[in-house]
Amino acid sequence: MPETVLELDDLTVRFRLRRGDLTAVNGVSFSIGRGETFGLVGESGSGKSVTARAIMRLIPDPPGEIQRGRILFGGDNVLDKNAAEMRALRGRHIAMVFQEPMSALNPVFTVCEQISDALRTNLGLSKREARERVVELLALVGIPSPQKRLDSYVHEFSGGMRQRVMLAMALSCNPGFLIADEPTTALDVTIQATILELITSMIDKLGMSLLFITHNLGVVAHSCDKIGVMYASHLVELGDKREIFANPQHPYTVGLLNSIPRLDIQARHLTPIAGSVCNMMEPPSGCKFHPRCAHAMDVCRREVPKLKEVAPGHHAACHLHDRGAAT
Ligand code: SF4
Repeated sequence: MPETVLELDDLTVRFRLRRGDLTAVNGVSFSIGRGETFGLVGESGSGKSVTARAIMRLIPDPPGEIQRGRILFGGDNVLDKNAAEMRALRGRHIAMVFQEPMSALNPVFTVCEQISDALRTNLGLSKREARERVVELLALVGIPSPQKRLDSYVHEFSGGMRQRVMLAMALSCNPGFLIADEPTTALDVTIQATILELITSMIDKLGMSLLFITHNLGVVAHSCDKIGVMYASHLVELGDKREIFANPQHPYTVGLLNSIPRLDIQARHLTPIAGSVCNMMEPPSGCKFHPRCAHAMDVCRREVPKLKEVAPGHHAACHLHDRGAAT
């Protein structure tokens, strides 16, 4: 077992909105080891991006609030850190790549100015040293003629190249942990695979741990060791990637797997999950998946199923695994 780098324990995040309270993340617990790659998967609105932002302490408060739980990074609770300690943690130890690079990159500074800023603040490099390091980083992420692109602005890059710039910025201070939040979703499908391949090769080369957020279970198939599946704020399945793909234990995961396009199955034979994600302002009682589940029983409408071990290292939150469950 690799040494644990990140541990979430009962993380619960709530938003106090004018229309009422919304629990976006509900009692989520998982851990990621050194050098491990973890894919957090779920449909839009399931709470996976809020989980990532909570780790970085980027939940706007108000209206957001971490209501319960702990986020341990290297054994220290991130929630106990002050603003200066969090600034030191972000970038230097944990870095994040977002879905839309334009939201993280500043259009009025050149690429060199933006990346140098982090290098000079966090690593104390001189202006010349920082410029040299930026050239190395741009080359590392596959930007052609990096020396010539140093003084370009972000809008002069294509979508895929912007994502490479953001990755260079994230890697600039040699963080041990990378969070990638849907980093390929906004890209052209032909570029997606290249960026995905780049992220996984960087993780491998630099020996980092990765938390990869995606709505696409197919995307984590090649890039992650472990998988957590989220549905309507709850973690519903957790385990080794191979085990989850071979032997899914939650009906929602089964649905996600059946909806992945495969070369051996024609598009008309794909089975989308019935129904749509519940309204999180008024979630259903009991198991949040019960209105869409073909196996729903009475107990499913009454009780929220707990995440329990169904095979060594494999956990699922489903009443089908209760001893003596009715069918
Ligand atoms: Fe379906 Fe019940 Fe399991 Fe929920 S707890 S996934 S409704 S069988």
